[in-house]
Amino acid sequence: MKTMAQKIASGFLRNRFRLAQAAGALLFAVTAPLMAQELTVIRVGTLIDGKGGVLRSATVVVDEGKIKSVGQASAGRVTYDFPQFTLLPGLIDTHVHIDTHFGKSGRVVREGEPPQESILYAAENAYTMLINGFTTTQSIGSRLDLDLRAATARGMLPGPRLLTSIAPVDEHTGTPDQIRQFVRKVVADGADVIKIFASKSIREGGGQTLTQAQIEAACDEAKTLGRRTWVHAHADSAVKAAAAAGCWSVTHGSQVTDATLAFMAERGTFFEPNIGLLLQNYIQNKDRYFGIGNFNEAGFAFMEKGISLNLDMFKRAIRVKGLKLVMGTDAGAGAHGKNAQEIIYRVQNAGQPAMDAIIGATSLAAEALGMKDTIGIVAPGYEADLIAVDGDPIKDVTALRRVVFVMKDGHIYKNVAAGTRR
Ligand SMILES: [Zn+2]
Repeated sequence: MKTMAQKIASGFLRNRFRLAQAAGALLFAVTAPLMAQELTVIRVGTLIDGKGGVLRSATVVVDEGKIKSVGQASAGRVTYDFPQFTLLPGLIDTHVHIDTHFGKSGRVVREGEPPQESILYAAENAYTMLINGFTTTQSIGSRLDLDLRAATARGMLPGPRLLTSIAPVDEHTGTPDQIRQFVRKVVADGADVIKIFASKSIREGGGQTLTQAQIEAACDEAKTLGRRTWVHAHADSAVKAAAAAGCWSVTHGSQVTDATLAFMAERGTFFEPNIGLLLQNYIQNKDRYFGIGNFNEAGFAFMEKGISLNLDMFKRAIRVKGLKLVMGTDAGAGAHGKNAQEIIYRVQNAGQPAMDAIIGATSLAAEALGMKDTIGIVAPGYEADLIAVDGDPIKDVTALRRVVFVMKDGHIYKNVAAGTRR
């Protein structure tokens, strides 16, 4: 049993904003141990539920980390009153590289850094993502993710719920049998998802690298083990091969044709393109990346061309009926915390309706992570992952940059709402 002091200390660490409330509840608990804990009542001007619904003047009640009820605002005790803000599910980025960072030299770090330094940078990235409204993310992926995943799950270190692929299948993994063996190994090591490189990097032209048999082996073995697959593919042939093999999701797709987009929709393959943050971030930070691996002049030339290629591809993709377009940024060093830029770009530059883009970052993203019954929607029984933004993102999508309140798992990690009142 924890002592009272330990309980108060852990309450403080879990949520310093609510220390006074926690201490009060503990004192009360001494005299009335059977009394139920107080509910958190959030009243908002606008609620976007994550699956296409909008409610004006809404109340969301949170109990023990879960959403208890959602309804019209009514008179009564309110814990947080945000009449001028919009509440929505915590945002989800299905593709980041959470440990990537610019190190002491100011340049991107690839190797040779002490692990204690690397993990602290990863923790900073996790914190930055969370306070910018992202309560869940999938890292694709690194070994360090395992420790970060465990630390954030303990509830002390502020960061999004984290899923990881640990290490990828690529053209060096081997024969179909060796690929199956590799998939079994990363699943045993704790992978939530299997990353597969089926094509080259965009900096090397993006041509297909794995055969149909290799892709099939990876996706089939993962499915047998109850894991999803996330296939990196630029070349149209690689995207098509992944969809044909029954892989779960394709990322990038810069060279995909209309026929293959329609084929993905038909196969139910999730599609996670990155058009608004990734390449722009590399180009903005060219001096911090240049000279490392394929970050050379040719690589940067491919990326410059990639921006318009991606925009054209996305404009075609939003016209494909039934295509499951999910939000993912592929964020690396320099891009963490700016993840919402991908949603904003999709709406402002490619013309995706704001509601569709938000669904792609909430309920549909949750489905892509295999978590559709627990996160991504504001509804009774779902995890209390909620954010408030200053403005209505349906009318002005840049409101997603103005996150004033972040709750994850019922705990409040950010509340600057009072300072923004007009
Ligand atoms: Zn990636």
